[in-house]
Amino acid sequence: MITGILKESGNENRVALLPGEVSVLRKLGAEVLVETLAGKAAFASDSDYVFAGAAIDERRNVISKSELILSVNPPVSDSLDFFREGQILCSVLSPVENREWLEKARIKGLTILALDLIPRITRAQAMDILSSMATVAGYKAVLDAASLLPRFFPMFMSASGTIKPARVLILGAGVAGLQAVAIARKLGAVVEVFDVRSAVKEEVKSLGGKFIEVEGAREDVSAGGYAIEQSDEFKMKQKQLIQQRAAASDVIICTAQIPGKKAPVLVLADTVKSMKPGSVIVDLAASSGGNCEMTQNGKNILVNGIHIIGKTDYPSGMPTDASRMFGCNIINLLRIMLEKGGELNLNLSDEIIKGTTAIHKKEYISERLKQMLNIK
Ligand code: NAD
Repeated sequence: MITGILKESGNENRVALLPGEVSVLRKLGAEVLVETLAGKAAFASDSDYVFAGAAIDERRNVISKSELILSVNPPVSDSLDFFREGQILCSVLSPVENREWLEKARIKGLTILALDLIPRITRAQAMDILSSMATVAGYKAVLDAASLLPRFFPMFMSASGTIKPARVLILGAGVAGLQAVAIARKLGAVVEVFDVRSAVKEEVKSLGGKFIEVEGAREDVSAGGYAIEQSDEFKMKQKQLIQQRAAASDVIICTAQIPGKKAPVLVLADTVKSMKPGSVIVDLAASSGGNCEMTQNGKNILVNGIHIIGKTDYPSGMPTDASRMFGCNIINLLRIMLEKGGELNLNLSDEIIKGTTAIHKKEYISERLKQMLNIK
């Protein structure tokens, strides 16, 4: 099977596979074609790819010659005329944003493997690209906050007096949130955490954070490790408690999300006003509406002396390790599909493969995708 790796467009610095992962794919029996300069922004040269066993070619040829095409973001700016029926495209899909393109790809007869639809089950942990990228975002969010904050994170006792540690409030203790707890604690801050899933309480505590519980949270084990919508009464109680804790915080890292839905608004404009000037809010949920009412998607703003960071491309800002994690996750997914000799077997009776397949043979396959797009 010929596998093509595309160069990303726009400001994206990641690449789907770095040369290290290309070598692994070659050992699994696949031939690899890489678009010219695909790895440049992630500091991998064309000659590194050739050394790893790939051939380099221009974009049109990579698309036309490959049976499986890998990219970080879907190649929505390419004409679908360059693709042919039966080809398999594997990338993050962002199905709500790219709904029209997906429909055109379905009519064309492409098979789309959507890395953001990989089910969050134990067997798929090693393939979970969203978790890998959220790990990067949680790490970078705390570092950004620490560098903007006009105060130290750790406590200092020096000849110039005692400096109290910074207080960091983390909303949502999923992958990004827990990573943020770990990094903020390592930098010496006092960390408080809100989440609606009681399962994360022990994890927060074990990382040295204080879990603040709001009574009456709704949970659903069938949601596969994700949160569900909360009652209006719960939301009001939670907002009040967050307002209290926010006023005492120097930094808020927002990571709360319910997949496929608008992010819950947890930090109101009044709450922002109650914070100390110089404080920092990093809203990782910016692209799905933000956990803070004042966040502007993709922008960093200053409101009453408070930084509100709505950056949405943290993984692209750390392209080497983000691409390495991304590529490892793809290889782990391909391992369950590749047969001896390197041919791909799309076995839709496998829960992971079915859950990840957005479209195949002109049909929508993934149940979660159908729910997200309201397809009967
Ligand atoms: P996740 O699903 O693992 O975690 C989200 C957490 O939020 C869950 O623990 C959930 O229980 C909690 N939550 C949901 N509703 C809540 C509420 N009302 N109050 C408190 N907690 C609530 O998600 P993740 O993978 O950690 O990603 C977190 C966010 O980071 C997402 O919005 C994701 O899109 C974003 N992200 C941003 C970047 C970036 O560069 N900005 C990169 C990667 C991920």
